[in-house]
Amino acid sequence: MFKCIEHFKTINHHKKLVMESCFQVGLYRQGLLHDLSKYMPSEFLVGCKYYQGTMSPNNVERKEKGYSAAWLHHKGRNKHHLEYWIDYAIPTEVNGKLEHGGICGMKMPVCYVVEMFIDRMSASKNYQKDNYTDDGPLLYYNKGKGHYILHEDTRALLELLLVMLSLRGEEATFRFIRQRLLKRKVPYEQQKLDRAKNRLLAKGRRRTS
Ligand SMILES: [Zn+2]
Repeated sequence: MFKCIEHFKTINHHKKLVMESCFQVGLYRQGLLHDLSKYMPSEFLVGCKYYQGTMSPNNVERKEKGYSAAWLHHKGRNKHHLEYWIDYAIPTEVNGKLEHGGICGMKMPVCYVVEMFIDRMSASKNYQKDNYTDDGPLLYYNKGKGHYILHEDTRALLELLLVMLSLRGEEATFRFIRQRLLKRKVPYEQQKLDRAKNRLLAKGRRRTS
């Protein structure tokens, strides 16, 4: 019972953080609906059973059973997870033959990339507590980026947001999302996004050196 209450508090707290940030960038519907499936029995009861407080209960379930049923349930229903968008590549024609590319990341709609960014930021705040800084989410991303299956444009957009947060802070990044990104004023295309990210990094370095 204790674990159930603690798990309930943890998911509520995370949902509240995500909601506040989503509202700040104008994503009201997503702010309200974020991670709702965590309250369904197939996710909630597993969360109670494997509650730890320091890490995701899905990791504990995965270790014990060999797979996490709660996570498979979750990522199939929540579009802000990159895993939701993993699918077969569209076959391309090479020298008259159809070539199948296997499994890869589809290009995520911008509003879900923003929700994914806010989700990561909120999770970092939750786990790092008083030690949280604006570069926490970027450092966490850099540790895991080698094995993310992401569309190249989506990867570039997520990286631009994380770098912007680390160098300019939350307020400026939210303003960029609200006034430019979600108004379709930013090209959603890898090369241009990477160029914007590198410009930010160069300026950031100049300021610190
Ligand atoms: Zn989620």
